[in-house]
Amino acid sequence: MQAPSVGGVQAPRGNGQTIRLPRGASLSDFADKIGANPASLVQIMLHLGEMVTATQSVTDETLQLLGAELNFDVQVVSPEDEDRELLESFSIEFGEDEGDEADLEVRPPVVTVMGHVDHGKTKLLDAIRDTNIVAREAGGITQHIGAYQVKTEVDGQERKITFIDTPGHEAFTAMRARGADTTDLVILVVAADDGVKPQTTEAIDHATAAGVPIVVAVNKVDKEGADPQKVRAQLTEYGLVAEEYGGDTQFVDVSAKQGTGLDSLLEAIVLTADAELDLRANPNMSAQGIAIEANLDRGRGPVATVLVQRGTLRIGDSIVCGEAYGRVRAMLDDTGNNVDEATPSRPVQVLGLTAVPRAGDNFIAVDDDRVARQIAQQRAARLRNAELLKTRGRRTLEDIFKDLEKGAVEELRLIIKGDVSGSVEALEDALVKIDVGDEVDLRVIRRGAGAITQDDVNLAIASDAIIIGFNVRPETKARELADREGVDIRFYSVIYQAIEEVEAALKGMLKPEFEEVQLGTAEIREVFKVPKIGNVAGSLVRSGKIVRNSKARLLREGVVVSDNLTVSSLRRFKDDATEVREGFECGIGIGYSDIRVGDVIETFEMQEKPRV
Ligand code: GDP
Repeated sequence: MQAPSVGGVQAPRGNGQTIRLPRGASLSDFADKIGANPASLVQIMLHLGEMVTATQSVTDETLQLLGAELNFDVQVVSPEDEDRELLESFSIEFGEDEGDEADLEVRPPVVTVMGHVDHGKTKLLDAIRDTNIVAREAGGITQHIGAYQVKTEVDGQERKITFIDTPGHEAFTAMRARGADTTDLVILVVAADDGVKPQTTEAIDHATAAGVPIVVAVNKVDKEGADPQKVRAQLTEYGLVAEEYGGDTQFVDVSAKQGTGLDSLLEAIVLTADAELDLRANPNMSAQGIAIEANLDRGRGPVATVLVQRGTLRIGDSIVCGEAYGRVRAMLDDTGNNVDEATPSRPVQVLGLTAVPRAGDNFIAVDDDRVARQIAQQRAARLRNAELLKTRGRRTLEDIFKDLEKGAVEELRLIIKGDVSGSVEALEDALVKIDVGDEVDLRVIRRGAGAITQDDVNLAIASDAIIIGFNVRPETKARELADREGVDIRFYSVIYQAIEEVEAALKGMLKPEFEEVQLGTAEIREVFKVPKIGNVAGSLVRSGKIVRNSKARLLREGVVVSDNLTVSSLRRFKDDATEVREGFECGIGIGYSDIRVGDVIETFEMQEKPRV
């Protein structure tokens, strides 16, 4: 070990050896790995021109930069990489179809509906479901399970399409953020009477970033003032050029309300998928896919809707889904009918898991229960470690880097538990959008569906977090522990209430803001020289009162001559006074000698300002 070159800061240097760090690691994590003092790494980064705190999560580039400087080969490992390695240790490869070309069969496209609020996403999803659902003949009643499948006829062939039943790009991006690319194709809904709006273009950005083709549904064509051509013209600016304008994007005029144009829309989806995508999967392997929604059902226990991506899922299969595992006890489709097997692109509700997975968790059918359990347990352990890692070290940051921190950042940490993962995500999205300025951070350190467990409370203790229960209650043991340790658990059943309270809590945590309140003014009538004190202003109090030790400034013809002064002495005749009121004469010392007759001394104090 030798001292590094940077600014003489002491930190161990490597000799090119590899260190692995999780994505989003902090300098503290880095310091841990190499046995260094986090403070030294902060200083080195400062020398390298980056100001970061020890516990702040930094980018891959920063980790690499620091690694290069200290001669370590930094490998940034994403959670997905870690999971892949875990599965590999069980000889499981997630995301790959087994076999070769000949084993692949065409599968239906999986579609997400996006677009601006109120342009009719929900209505469109409902309309399509109501008219075309696959299992309608079976006489079932439609159930909202997070996805459904419809069939349509294109060129004399029956084709299926799977719709993800949660509109909007929050669900889409939340899943993508977790590495779960479920969507093959996006339907962009644009209301013909409203045209392109901010969320329209956001949706285009998301779809483009994901490399997912777009079919445009120009909705509400039944409305007066609807101008479908204008929508086409507007969207050309965003690279979506309709076929009739010489482009290759399918635009379909629809009315979700009247149910018109829906068949054409379905056809456009199939044609676009055929033209632009090669959607095939091997149905003859152990099933793999993604959980798209999950909740805790009072009677049935954990229920998860999974989208099979490859392979075939059957009753009795041992599966692992995120940190949950179990055996498929029963499967239900979007009409509530029992299903024995689910092939690629088929969404089904699965019963039999030990816990509630999160939306975006992958699920894998494995050879036996033991493997499922081991994978689930290792994932749970890893998650717990990562959570602990995230919460550790805040205090030391404040101790060591007080001087580096300009107005230390305070943080409100939350653990959100809810009845369904969808509502947890919606709540989290809403909470992190609360605007309380830069001074306070809100961080969700754990989220999940299901009851509040002892483990949640333990995490809250370890990290000073508040637990939010949305339509869920704590287990008895968890409640006892929380009571004993003074962990704050708050219950809500309405999202906006939760948001309001958290907002209030955040405001309460804000360091008080101060504002200046004027106390009084005095006009200087005479200047006395007093030995040891200096010049004293013989003054008349013009307004309010002059208070000893209050803050003061000196004004000359309305201009501040000197600020940041203090009323250091105050006298009425020969006696010291603590305050002198309006209309009285007094001698004021403000520790400033260039005072002149006619100047005004203004005094004020700083008062805490209530947050609005
Ligand atoms: P979302 O926010 O995109 O999910 O929009 P909604 O599906 O909730 O629809 C917003 C409003 O537009 C609702 O009042 C719908 O009834 C109405 N709406 C949706 N589609 C149509 C349509 O095709 N024609 C008309 N006239 N109204 C529609």
